[in-house]
Amino acid sequence: MLLYDLDLPALTSLLTQWGEPAYRARQIWQGLYVHLYDSPSQFTNLPNSLRARLAEQFTFTPFTVKTWLDSADQSTRKTLFQLPDGNLIEAVLMRYGDPADMPPPSSLRDTPPNIGGSRRGVRRTLCISTQAGCAMGCVFCATGQMGFRRHLTSGEIVAQVMYYARMLREVNENVTNIVLMGMGEPFHNYDNVMAAIDRLNDPQGFNFGARRITLSTVGLVPQIRRFADEKRQVNLAVSLHAADDDERLAIMPVNKRYKIDEVLEACRYYIEKTHRRVTFEWALISGVNDTPEAAHKLAARLKGLLCHVNAIPLNPTAGYAGQAASRQRAELFKQTLEQAGVPCTIRMRRGIDINAGCGQLAGSLKPGD
Ligand code: SAH
Ligand code: SF4
Repeated sequence: MLLYDLDLPALTSLLTQWGEPAYRARQIWQGLYVHLYDSPSQFTNLPNSLRARLAEQFTFTPFTVKTWLDSADQSTRKTLFQLPDGNLIEAVLMRYGDPADMPPPSSLRDTPPNIGGSRRGVRRTLCISTQAGCAMGCVFCATGQMGFRRHLTSGEIVAQVMYYARMLREVNENVTNIVLMGMGEPFHNYDNVMAAIDRLNDPQGFNFGARRITLSTVGLVPQIRRFADEKRQVNLAVSLHAADDDERLAIMPVNKRYKIDEVLEACRYYIEKTHRRVTFEWALISGVNDTPEAAHKLAARLKGLLCHVNAIPLNPTAGYAGQAASRQRAELFKQTLEQAGVPCTIRMRRGIDINAGCGQLAGSLKPGD
């Protein structure tokens, strides 16, 4: 069993069953989530017998590193992990805002670990996976093209963060933001995803603020409502990509189940309950959804909603003929929305040279490669 799969109460009751005092559970918890230990030998504050028992009963690392790639500008690192059952998942680290006059890492030695914050303007954003493959079948998405393999456990989700947190710790840096935008549909794996978020949040452990986590969904309506009721501080992004039901259905099969009106109604409910702004994701595909008409339709639908549109030129994939919108089209799209009162940002495509788009690296390898 994977140690990261346990929450603190479960770990405590297990240790009690083993006849250990409760504080041992807290020591293990801190070892895992404050000191970022990933092997039993690092837990030097535990008796040898307990370390041996942990090593015998638990796995500390749920995956091996199959391969990793850095973008040419070094801003983006993508890692492909192999799970024990052979499934591949990926997680990407994006570095933002490193001005040349930044103080050298040595002057940051006093920064306490896991405060989550960092030097002003410097972000270390992780994009992590919630499933191996995805069942939603969006035609433009490399993960969708692979199909569904399985849900990740909460510990497998958490472990991706710990992997990068350890790497950043070595250069005195912290993860500052987490986006659940890697492989998979987080709301299709609701319970494990929420358990992972809670584990990352735990003030006695990794202490990562929910407000710095963003969950992106294809638009599963009952889960958006459930998420709203739970009033988490996590940011919500909804992948829209079309403002007309037929057009959305052509690229996103989920639209057969949940029409745009229902999705937006659920978003309205979320905003009422949480007073939080929703982000709508829009992959700009040349000639498909990058037209001024598409922007007008979208603006009409979103008018009055506490929201923001994140548009990003499509990352072309092997299984879909669509191409990225041009820079001019993207700019025009943004202007059209903003003139209609809907805030919009055009995001840069990061790591395009390393297939850092969702599912693109795993999708290019066959199991056994
Ligand atoms: N399943 C969730 C989260 C993972 S995908 C969702 O769909 O929202 C994260 C984001 O990447 C989504 O907005 C998705 O639509 C987008 N995306 C997928 N494939 C893409 C591609 N080839 N180019 C640009 N964006 C893509
Ligand atoms: Fe799944 Fe999201 Fe890809 Fe659609 S875009 S197939 S929901 S991962």
